Amino acid sequence: MLQPNILLTGTPGVGKTTLGKELASRSGLKYINVGDLAKEGHLYDGYDEEYDCPILDEDRVVDELENQMKEGGVIVDYHGCDFFPERWFHIVFVLRTDNNVLYKRLETRGYNEKKLQDNIQCEIFQVLYEEAMASYKEEIVHQLASNKPEDLENNINQILKWIEQWIKDHSS
Ligand code: ADP
Ligand code: MG
Repeated sequence: MLQPNILLTGTPGVGKTTLGKELASRSGLKYINVGDLAKEGHLYDGYDEEYDCPILDEDRVVDELENQMKEGGVIVDYHGCDFFPERWFHIVFVLRTDNNVLYKRLETRGYNEKKLQDNIQCEIFQVLYEEAMASYKEEIVHQLASNKPEDLENNINQILKWIEQWIKDHSS
């Protein structure tokens, strides 16, 4: 059975991992967290002193994922998307969270003030939405509100319906 590949992107803290894991468990699709994958495989290419985090080796990440993406049925979670091959994804969701809500979530994570402000700016200037729109066909890029538990439930139900329809459309 042919299954679609789904990209979940957005500023850190918007709820990609929460949605991705729940969606995977309810759809049977496979969930891949690119941050975790990089950590496990040490897929890094240097260290960013200013942001105090390792720099992703994007080419190695793409190589690592290529075979699974070809097979289909993968949900990818990452706060960036311009380095993935466009052909990988059948649909792209950019999660969006109100500033005050996001601020509280990132504060709870213990982000320092600079990292907090940078991420809030990232959300205000819709950096990830612009990146997704520039990297994929506009008609496959969708924004999802991700502020409250009802949003999560709505988003899951909508995406499950979309998956079901996609599978029907691609079966013969
Ligand atoms: P990301 O993977 O995008 O960084 P997470 O999935 O880790 O974000 O979510 C960040 C925090 O926000 C978590 O504490 C999570 O429980 C909470 N959260 C995520 N989605 C929602 C939502 N729709 N409503 C309320 N809280 C949420
Ligand atoms: Mg996450």
